[in-house]
Amino acid sequence: MRKKIVAGNWKMHFTPSKAEAFAGEMRDKLNTDKVEVVLCVPYVNLQSVQAKLANTHIKVGAQNMHYMDEGAYTGEISGVMLKDMGVPYVIIGHSERRESFSETNLTVNLKTLKALEHGLTPIVCVGESLKQRKQNRTAGVLRKQITFALDELTAEDVAKIVIAYEPIWAIGTGETATNEQAEEACALIRELILCRFGQEAADKVRILYGGSVSPANAAELFAMPNIDGGLVGGASVVPSFEQVVHFG
Ligand code: PEP
Repeated sequence: MRKKIVAGNWKMHFTPSKAEAFAGEMRDKLNTDKVEVVLCVPYVNLQSVQAKLANTHIKVGAQNMHYMDEGAYTGEISGVMLKDMGVPYVIIGHSERRESFSETNLTVNLKTLKALEHGLTPIVCVGESLKQRKQNRTAGVLRKQITFALDELTAEDVAKIVIAYEPIWAIGTGETATNEQAEEACALIRELILCRFGQEAADKVRILYGGSVSPANAAELFAMPNIDGGLVGGASVVPSFEQVVHFG
């Protein structure tokens, strides 16, 4: 039985004071051990949100990291730094980073390997654009992204990571993939992992759906057999996130 995960991606929302207030407001409402709840917050909010959530089941995550441990990389944050802060999760390869910050399949792979080296759980994002879906290229795009992202990982590594299937056309648009579309893509990802890493890795890896998840659609999406929860953007920075965590 895979434990479900509901991860909020706050993106570039909330100043430190607002983040602390929101985390304080949500603390008791999100505190459950029935699902794993993760709040992926801006770097500057990690420490204060972590402090607010102390002694709860809720975990924090970062939204990106560099693939080097240290050095002349102005403006970057390394996995070592996150590890030292006790941050357990990190989103890798979100489509917004791929599109706006030159993230490539190669950097996604390097960051995933580095996160694992430091004992962080990467939430590796994959997903097709609207154009690719219309051209019936979804399966090929996912195959390529998964193949690159998981290069040089072992079956044990894959069993520990989280993959988020996030069709780009559904992110922040209010247009959610249908349950069937989301399930089909997540099942394909699990199949790719089965073929390459074996049954145990395929059974253990958690695959999330992301793309306009809301209290209205979370329960149905998360009930699909290959969907182990959600990566939630817009609906994670409002009080009704509580309903997503408790599945609508
Ligand atoms: C995301 O940021 O990963 C995301 C899925 O955003 P939204 O839920 O707003 O579509």
